[in-house]
Order: sequence, then C-alpha cells, then structure tokens
Amino acid sequence: MVNGSERSGGADVCIVGAGVMGTSIAYQLAARRLGRVVICDQGTVGEGMSGRSSALIRMHYTLREEVELAVLSLRMFREWTQVIGGQPVFHPAPFVRIVHADEVDKLRRNIAMQRECGARVELIDGSTLASLAPTWAVEDVEFAAYEPESGYGSGGQVAADLLNRAQELGVTYLARTRVLGLRRSGDRVTGVDTTGGPIEASLVICAAGVWTRPLLRAAGWDPPIDTEFHHVAMVRRLQAEPRDGLACIDSVSRTYFRPDVPGTTLVGSFYGPRGIDPDDFPQQPTESEAVGLVQAASRRVPGLADGGIAGAVTGVYDMTPDTRPLIGQVPSLPGCLLVGGFSGMGFKISPAIGVAVAELVADGAASSVDLRVFRPERFEEGRPILPEGEYRDDLNTAR
Ligand SMILES: Cc1cc2nc3c(=O)[nH]c(=O)nc-3n(C[C@H](O)[C@H](O)[C@H](O)COP(=O)(O)OP(=O)(O)OC[C@H]3O[C@@H](n4cnc5c(N)ncnc54)[C@H](O)[C@@H]3O)c2cc1C
Repeated sequence: MVNGSERSGGADVCIVGAGVMGTSIAYQLAARRLGRVVICDQGTVGEGMSGRSSALIRMHYTLREEVELAVLSLRMFREWTQVIGGQPVFHPAPFVRIVHADEVDKLRRNIAMQRECGARVELIDGSTLASLAPTWAVEDVEFAAYEPESGYGSGGQVAADLLNRAQELGVTYLARTRVLGLRRSGDRVTGVDTTGGPIEASLVICAAGVWTRPLLRAAGWDPPIDTEFHHVAMVRRLQAEPRDGLACIDSVSRTYFRPDVPGTTLVGSFYGPRGIDPDDFPQQPTESEAVGLVQAASRRVPGLADGGIAGAVTGVYDMTPDTRPLIGQVPSLPGCLLVGGFSGMGFKISPAIGVAVAELVADGAASSVDLRVFRPERFEEGRPILPEGEYRDDLNTAR
C-alpha cells in the first residue's frame, strides 16, 4: 500500500490521533521502515479515551480474531521494557469471567476456542472460585472462566511509551494539531488539512477514537459509530479485608472490577447512555451514580459497600452496532484507512492492532491476525459480526 519513498513536504503515512491505536501503528510502521510517518493529535498523546481507560488485559472473547489479538498483545505487554522501553506496563491480576447461569455452555465453548488460540484459561467451579476469592459472594456461580496470567495496564503510559519509541525511530509527532478535514484529489485521499497547515500523504490512517465520525462524515462516509458514556469509581477497601488481587467481568452484577493502587478497587459500568458529545461530557459521575455503581458491584464483592469512594472518572466508548472495531479502507475513500470503533475493548489489543495494521499497510493484508472480519463495510453488506458463543450482554457492554 505504501511505496516507502521519501518525498519532500509530505509524508507517506499521516496518522490522525495519538491514542493507544495511533501510537501503536506509528511505532510498528517505523519499526518496519515503511516510509515517513507523521502522527498528529488535536491535544497531546494519550489525552483522549486511552488516558481514561480501565485498561483491563484479558483474553476472554467470543470471536476468535479478538482472542488472537489479545493473546499477541499480552505477549507484547509482558515484553514491554525490552522492546519498547520505559517502565513495566503490565500489572498481574488474574481474571475471572462470570456469565449468566444459562450461558455456561457458551462459556465452556468459548474457553475451548480461547485455548486453541493460545490463551491460558481454565474452567473453574464455584468452590474453586470461592477459595480464590474468599471475600466475594459466589453462591450463584456454578462455573466461571479463570485466566491466571491476565492483568491490567495504563492507557496513558502505553500511548506515551509507544510514541517515544516511534519518535526514536524517526516518526514526526505534531501535538495540538487538529485535523480539520481530508484532502482529496478526485476520489482519492491525498492528505489532511490541519490547524498547522496541510499535510500531504499517500495514506491517511484515521485513529481518532470517539471523534472519528464527524471527520469521516464530512469526507463523505458516515461510519456506524455511536458514543456511549461510562462511569468508573475507585473504592478504598477496608484495611482489615484480605486482598485477592483478582479482576472480574460479571454479567450478574453488570459491573467489572480490578485492583488499582494498593488498597483500592476500580469498579466500572457495563452500560451507559448513548449519543454523548465527546467534547462536552461530565468529567465526574454524580455522587449517586458512583454510589449506584459501587452498590451494584457489592452484590459480588460485599466489602465494597463499606469502602469509601476515593475517586471517579468518566469516559466515552466508540460503539459500533456489533460492538466490534472497524478496520480497513474507508468505503469510497481510497487512501484512507479507518482504525476505530473499538467499543470499549481497544486498550488490551492495541499492541497487536499496530502489528496487524502495519502488515496491512505493507502487504495489503494482515498476516499475524486476519483483520478482514472487521472490514468497515460489513454493516452495509448486512453482515455484522455475531459469534456463535456471544453472551447476550456482550452486545452492549463494557468489554
Ligand atoms: C472508561 C473507559 C474504560 C475502558 N476500559 C477498557 C478496558 O478495561 N480494557 C480495554 O481493553 N479497553 C478499555 N476501554 C477502551 C479503550 O480505552 C479504547 O478502546 C482505546 O483507548 C481507544 O484508543 P484510540 O487510540 O482509538 O482512541 P483515543 O485514545 O481516544 O485516541 C484518539 C485520539 O485522536 C485525537 N483526535 C481526534 N480527532 C482528532 C482530529 N480531528 N485531529 C487530531 N487529533 C484528533 C484525540 O485527541 C485522541 O487523542 C475503556 C474506555 C473507557 C472510556
């Protein structure tokens, strides 16, 4: 896709957005020496939704390609300091997935598929879970999925480390440079207009997260991306309580939670209101929203109800109709690649997305993980992704 030639006054690839996706792609393009790469952000690196991410790293997905992306990324998170540099980014927190009792058959099938993809995951029964998590209420759990090697990270750190490494390899970073629109020559996209002037590029990669839709709509293709508002609360745990150090996504309480800084647990929401303006949303949940979230999680971890709320954040997901990303050439806009719509799941797969998108740019197809399933035009074709083992709350959930 890219010829790699040096051209003055332009770039071979211009990436819009310096979140975990844009920086991961920039690093991988540079590592493969795929020509001149410019990455610009309307703010600064990681300042978008990556910096607000709960950053859970887990392998439990219902679609094979998602599992493959997560497995490859886990390996990269674990090798972070050797390959990317900086401080270690991966914090171990074994992960538990609890589904509705009538979906345990799907859980079994999904675990088998995940193991085929190389994920370390086990089916555990309720009594094993009770011994792993003695402070949880698990009487209703017959079986759960358990990932002993999963954990969490930091979206801000990942984006900053990847950008640093990309810059060392020659990538040009333009902070506080807003892309105002795509430049065209006939049908073909030939660069971008920015607040700092035009940038000519053979290929524009749109990794603008929740800001993707207005940018592409103005260029002539309206991506099926809706925004969804989410709350996260940090709960200070009582000192006397034993710490289990586990992370969990729980369909029954409709919450997810994981350890955070020592003595606190991070709790996040499954659902949220749609249509929120990413440039104008409440920066904090209200007290009753935060308390409601913690109460819901305390159904699974009763001790949370007695802890104080130490902090809270909000964020916005870029949701697609099947809650899967849109990756590929933008329909009717040759020269523009879309990498967006991550629907609340992007952090954990961002290292592998960089690898696979760089392969797509270099060779016309990704070889590490087949990205074709995520082609942006699948909804126009009437072929959304719907895996056999999909849980009913995965169609609209924190992922
Ligand atoms: C509250 C919350 C919790 C989450 N929890 C998890 C989790 O536990 N695990 C997980 O895997 N994922 C999680 N996610 C999802 C994950 O964080 C996102 O999928 C991921 O960060 C998206 O990265 P991105 O690079 O696509 O977007 P962003 O990080 O938002 O980056 C896009 C960048 O583009 C820039 N930009 C936009 N428009 C323009 C323009 N016109 N010109 C220039 N720059 C522009 C923005 O400034 C921004 O920096 C969570 C998300 C939220 C909000």
